[in-house]
Amino acid sequence: MSNKKPKANPAEWATATQAIRAGSHRTEFGEHSEAMFLTSSFVFDSAAQAAARFAGTEEGNVYARFTNPSVQMFEQRLSVLEDTEYCLATSSGMAAITTACMGLLNAGDHIIASKALFGATVQLFVNILSRFGIETTFVDGTSMDAWEKAIKPNTKLFYSETPSNPLTEILDMRALSDLAKKHGIYNVVDNCFCTPALQKPVEFGTEIIIHSATKYLDGQGRVLGGAICGPKDLLKDKILPVLRTAGPTLSAFNAWVLFKGLETLNIRMLAQSAAALEIATWLEAHPAVSKVYYPGLKSHPQHELAMKQQKTGGAIVSFEVKAGSEDEARAKAWQVIDSSQLMSITANLGDTRTTITHPGTTTHGRLSPEAREAAGIKQGLIRLAIGLEDVGDLKKDLVRGLG
Ligand SMILES: *Cc1c(COP(=O)(O)O)cnc(C)c1O
Repeated sequence: MSNKKPKANPAEWATATQAIRAGSHRTEFGEHSEAMFLTSSFVFDSAAQAAARFAGTEEGNVYARFTNPSVQMFEQRLSVLEDTEYCLATSSGMAAITTACMGLLNAGDHIIASKALFGATVQLFVNILSRFGIETTFVDGTSMDAWEKAIKPNTKLFYSETPSNPLTEILDMRALSDLAKKHGIYNVVDNCFCTPALQKPVEFGTEIIIHSATKYLDGQGRVLGGAICGPKDLLKDKILPVLRTAGPTLSAFNAWVLFKGLETLNIRMLAQSAAALEIATWLEAHPAVSKVYYPGLKSHPQHELAMKQQKTGGAIVSFEVKAGSEDEARAKAWQVIDSSQLMSITANLGDTRTTITHPGTTTHGRLSPEAREAAGIKQGLIRLAIGLEDVGDLKKDLVRGLG
């Protein structure tokens, strides 16, 4: 075929090239942009071929709950980016976490998780997996001692995120994966905030990586999606059977949107991080602001570790407004949020549009005051997920409420 070129090795490419070129498959029509395969099933040449495909003795597509070329292109591109052997796409980030846990765990097993997790992940562990006999202990993720002390004979899985939401705590991925390996425990890290453009957990020994593709991988707030990246045999033997049978499959349409979203991942992450650093530096010097949480700032308590693991500080900036009491702080924070004209008041993140959130009354609103205090979520806290608008316009938007 005239449009075929010699096969390149995507593993040798830099991230920007991988995000644009890896996993691409061209059909006989020679399309340049990848095709979208909106089909629920696939036809066979013969009854014998159908039998072989179903028996698994012949590779190939059967039914879209199992495989679909659009989904596979997304999986291949993401596994090249994460430098893992394999990737399984799912219908959402939560579907990825649920599917991974169902595949790797049995009733009677124990999870140790970092306290600073996405809210729905905590609820999955506490309210749902517990009903199937899987118990979770939450620890201060930054204390390796706490992880080690929480290990029990039935501990099967470590679960963490770094940086954490919304206070951007950094977890030492190398130390955690060494501990997991020493005790034969699966080690799962949610890489949603950094994406492989800024951080490759595999470089620090992490075994399994989770993505909410809904966030930065799409990058434009359009579709839901998720992924599990890791060793091929483990994913194929333990997790794929759950995905195929339970059916939290990524749709071909969403896979295609995500696949195209990845093409701008590298440049978006770098530009959004650069803007976030500028905003964080500016906020730190602002008289109405008492504290800024951003791993790219020297004042961040784990700045050095962050810079060892991440290419930049990321695009999430949280800060506290100055106030006397907690009530006053909430009023001041709400004033900043309500005075903004540009930023979107929404819980999502990873969009080209900057979002502004009050964690104390939204994402962490349902926690008891004591639990919220323990998590370090104060009423004066505001979380920004910096997008791609002009930084000057973003500052002007914050000044409306900050003064
Ligand atoms: C959003 C999010 C999830 C869940 O992803 P969905 O696609 O919304 O299901 C998991 N982890 C983190 C860190 C997230 O931000």
